[in-house]
Amino acid sequence: MTLSVDNIHVSFGDLAAVAGVSFTAAEGEIIGLLGPSGCGKSTLLRVISGLIVPDQGRVMWDGVDLMGVPVHKRGFGFMFQDGQLFSHKSVAANIEYGLPKRRFSRVERDARVAELLKLVGLEGYQNRNVTLLSGGEKQRVALARALAPAPRVLLLDEPLSALDRELRERLALDLRGILRSTGTTAVFVTHDQDEAFTVCDRVAVMMGGKVLQLDIPERLWRHPATAQVAEFLGYEAVLSQDPFHGYAPCDFEVVETLPAEGADTLARQLGQIDHHGDPVDRSVLAALTQQPRAQGEPEQLAGTVMDKLFQSGRAIARVSVPAVGELTAALPSGLSVAQGDGVRLIRVAQ
Ligand code: ADP
Ligand code: MG
Repeated sequence: MTLSVDNIHVSFGDLAAVAGVSFTAAEGEIIGLLGPSGCGKSTLLRVISGLIVPDQGRVMWDGVDLMGVPVHKRGFGFMFQDGQLFSHKSVAANIEYGLPKRRFSRVERDARVAELLKLVGLEGYQNRNVTLLSGGEKQRVALARALAPAPRVLLLDEPLSALDRELRERLALDLRGILRSTGTTAVFVTHDQDEAFTVCDRVAVMMGGKVLQLDIPERLWRHPATAQVAEFLGYEAVLSQDPFHGYAPCDFEVVETLPAEGADTLARQLGQIDHHGDPVDRSVLAALTQQPRAQGEPEQLAGTVMDKLFQSGRAIARVSVPAVGELTAALPSGLSVAQGDGVRLIRVAQ
């Protein structure tokens, strides 16, 4: 069973708040919508919930079109930044709210409330007054209430954003554990990258109503698809400077020649070219090469030998390096290269 979001468009007057977003969430998968304020996350979540009818596109569950299905019949649960608890009701009464009296007996409801309180780490809180709970406890109750009817999909809009940092980290971990253990399919909206990466299986980076990249956290971090994604993920500190500018002629050394397609394969692995074979945006590569490498792991580049020359008696190769340009690299004696050879370079001067 899959949640499919297909080519959603929503405009408010001239503003395209959501501009052609599609993704699918497999059963039990937690998808993050990550982006700065105003990029259309909440609007998209409201479309999924049924609160907003999009100008174009559709939402499906298990292949069934939900566009004609009203909010309360979609079987989706919600959780917001402010848990919106009923302040005049006890913790138990708040959680029970989602359990229809017609379908569940008193005993069943009590058992379900106890089970949910245990799940969210608030065992024994049934009779507490919600106004006396801490911010984190309130959000745990809100989560228990959202999960009470065992929703097919849980939609969470910045549920941790009102909490202070330490609590947010703790709750992000717990939230992931709880969604996992209940097998809940979820769409989790946040503007906080750490939170998205902690909670979600895959994250859609949104900007200006569009999804720029949707991937697992490790790949988003290691291979941001565009400079915009890299910048949003916190690479801005290095984007302004180009680390390839001003290399001395022999900051690089040729380590080995590569078989025919080896240079392309290595260039792809190193993030210099994308899967179409096109050089990546140079600022993205700049960002990538600034990432911490395993200790002792050298900065590497792949390229193709243009020609070979000698400077002050030293053999030098001029190498065309995708996404970087031309570099000169020292040729160790004993390594013979010819024009057109693929080569692996390492940076010798740091
Ligand atoms: P996010 O949740 O990512 O912060 P929203 O989805 O709330 O962003 O908003 C996206 C854009 O649409 C913003 O520019 C916002 O001002 C605008 N917007 C949202 N809801 C409405 C509305 N009901 N009427 C007009 N503009 C809206
Ligand atoms: Mg929002």
